[in-house]
Amino acid sequence: MSLLTVKDLGKSFGGVKAVDGISFELAAGELLALIGPNGAGKSTTFNMVNGQLKADRGSISLDGQELIGQKPRSIWRLGVGRTFQIAETFQSLSVVENVQMALLSHDQKIYAMWRRAADYRRQDALALLDQVGMLAQADRPCSELAYGDVKRVELSIAMANSPKLLLMDEPTAGMAPRERNALMALTKKLVTERGMAVLFTEHSMDVVFAYADRMIVLARGRLIAAGKPLEIRDHPKVQEVYFGS
Ligand code: ADP
Ligand code: MG
Repeated sequence: MSLLTVKDLGKSFGGVKAVDGISFELAAGELLALIGPNGAGKSTTFNMVNGQLKADRGSISLDGQELIGQKPRSIWRLGVGRTFQIAETFQSLSVVENVQMALLSHDQKIYAMWRRAADYRRQDALALLDQVGMLAQADRPCSELAYGDVKRVELSIAMANSPKLLLMDEPTAGMAPRERNALMALTKKLVTERGMAVLFTEHSMDVVFAYADRMIVLARGRLIAAGKPLEIRDHPKVQEVYFGS
């Protein structure tokens, strides 16, 4: 049973076929890596799933519901979360306040009076921080955090919506190998505990081989291989794209 079903998805920018008819499925509880060289169409694919970009063709269904044509907010309500970078303006807030903001920004009535609601769902926010190992740092300003810890907070913010599907575009970019492994181990733990699905892009093959259940490989907007990491590694087309052989 797949949670997400993508069929013949396509998007062009002018003459560039950024995504050229790709199809894949993703099941609940699965960690799927989307890999491929720069410009392969990974981010474009993500942005069509979360509704920031409208597909030219194809279909994207979540639990049988078509996502193409829906607004990002509706798609988010249907259970598609994504990690996003803590905005500049949130830097002055503490760690727990960032997560509280994520919780209350999804509640329109409360949002209107958020300045008065300093304790809004603080316990829920603390519970989310606990899940990512950031409880002890809850009241520090975000600007003081180590980069790997900022990433943990971003993950807890994405969890505020209890997503069925979490999209992570290059979650480990700019991280040292140790931090990468810690973040992916945490992601894997959340997948297991919550039974959600994750679609992520990643440059490091070590990370993909260590954490992905399955992977799909894009090149110039086309899907050139899909399968378990060990099955894919020696695929001739993948070797060609990555190593030019
Ligand atoms: P990836 O994330 O795999 O590096 P992208 O999805 O960002 O690749 O880009 C795929 C292709 O689409 C590239 O050729 C890129 O230049 C082009 N592209 C992406 N977004 C836009 C845009 N907004 N306008 C024009 N071209 C774009
Ligand atoms: Mg990208």
